[in-house]
Amino acid sequence: MRILISGASVAGPVLAYWLNSYGSAVTVVERAPALRKAGGHAVDLFRPAMDIIDKMGLIEPVQARKTGTEWLSFRTENGDRPHGLEVGKLMSVVSDRHVEIMRDDLGEILYEATRHDVEYLFGDSIAAMAETADGVDVTFERGPARRFDLVIGADGLHSNVRRLVFGEESRFSTWIGAYLAVMSIPNYLGLRDRMDGITGVNRMVGVYGGAHMDDARAVFMFRPAAELDYHYRDVDRQKELLRRQFAGMGWEVPRLLGEELERASTFYFDSVTQLRMDTWSRGRVSLVGDAGYCPGPAVGGSTSLAVVGAYVLAGELAEARGDHTRAFPAYEREIGDYVRRSRTFAVGAAKRLIPDTRLGLWGLIQGVRLVNHVPTPIARALVGLGGRGVRLHDEVAVKDYPRGSVVRTDATG
Ligand SMILES: Cc1cc2nc3c(=O)[nH]c(=O)nc-3n(C[C@H](O)[C@H](O)[C@H](O)COP(=O)(O)OP(=O)(O)OC[C@H]3O[C@@H](n4cnc5c(N)ncnc54)[C@H](O)[C@@H]3O)c2cc1C
Repeated sequence: MRILISGASVAGPVLAYWLNSYGSAVTVVERAPALRKAGGHAVDLFRPAMDIIDKMGLIEPVQARKTGTEWLSFRTENGDRPHGLEVGKLMSVVSDRHVEIMRDDLGEILYEATRHDVEYLFGDSIAAMAETADGVDVTFERGPARRFDLVIGADGLHSNVRRLVFGEESRFSTWIGAYLAVMSIPNYLGLRDRMDGITGVNRMVGVYGGAHMDDARAVFMFRPAAELDYHYRDVDRQKELLRRQFAGMGWEVPRLLGEELERASTFYFDSVTQLRMDTWSRGRVSLVGDAGYCPGPAVGGSTSLAVVGAYVLAGELAEARGDHTRAFPAYEREIGDYVRRSRTFAVGAAKRLIPDTRLGLWGLIQGVRLVNHVPTPIARALVGLGGRGVRLHDEVAVKDYPRGSVVRTDATG
């Protein structure tokens, strides 16, 4: 069976790995001209995703490349002393098995694990698809047209496959009240195992380095009163909006939004948007990861959801012996609850991370103190009382798919 995946970041290569292990011939098309190695941003792998990474035999390289952030240090805008928080302690409240890793490091590990068995086409993109009775005719922007049995969109929040099959993104995306900006900066604060930051009502800034990074990242999150008006390609306007939102904030912010923003080698600015689709499969096409069910970047544990979604999609295709009419609905049923709970979690997390009142800010600081000062089981219980679903990822039961399954015995690929 020949399967085309669009997107070679996290969901795409995980899906490719498992489909290949079940006997499919897999092609991955990636718009970027080469594997991204700029680092991107830090992402989280929680228990269910770590268990899948383990089954793939990749725990060692993932552990070796973890960011190694051990300490969070935050001051509030009214200038009192910084509040410190041990990351290990915080994470043990949230999950029993967690690793933070730069997205591009994870992507590279997944690519290395699949590149000998999977065909990768870099620097190309799907231009059009036409479904026939026994396949999908795919036209590429650059390469020659080809036919595949199935096409899977793993091309992120602004998915091309989703647009081609389901229509414009605005039909499915909901702004959940926040904006996110990330830029690469020199590690002039000398941060290795620590994230430093400042938080205020409706806005926060954090700077972190990583064990394997030469530079650092500055992250900005804010909640304006209303949705902002800008074009996604208008970087100057985005920078202007960012400066306006953080005007008057102390600590390193004037420098970050001054000279560092001027010369930043990479700059990302986007609304924190949640995708809400009732179904993410149509005919011979389905979606995986952020493309199908992003709960919101940086607030919903979407990387773990992407890994689990990819594993389950491949497993259901194997169980149904490649019959997508059975496998796609089973895949959606299997992860539906995780997707819905992630959405609810993300909306709550956006509010908790960037409180919109002084009282909320006070609550955040008290939460930090609580996690710091009481034993982990008690902190878990108290945090659980305050916000259901904090251990969302660890509570997810992922079906186990036996390795011996095949996607289709009469494989045509
Ligand atoms: C700033 C920021 C901070 C984040 N912080 C966190 C965090 O703290 N924790 C966490 O768990 N998650 C975080 N996330 C989310 C995380 O990055 C995603 O959930 C995760 O990368 C999803 O993986 P994916 O493979 O589904 O999509 P992506 O990683 O978005 O990958 C999509 C891939 O598709 C490719 N592509 C796009 N268009 C096309 C096309 N037309 N043709 C072919 N290829 C295409 C892209 O180049 C990319 O390689 C953050 C995201 C952002 C943006």
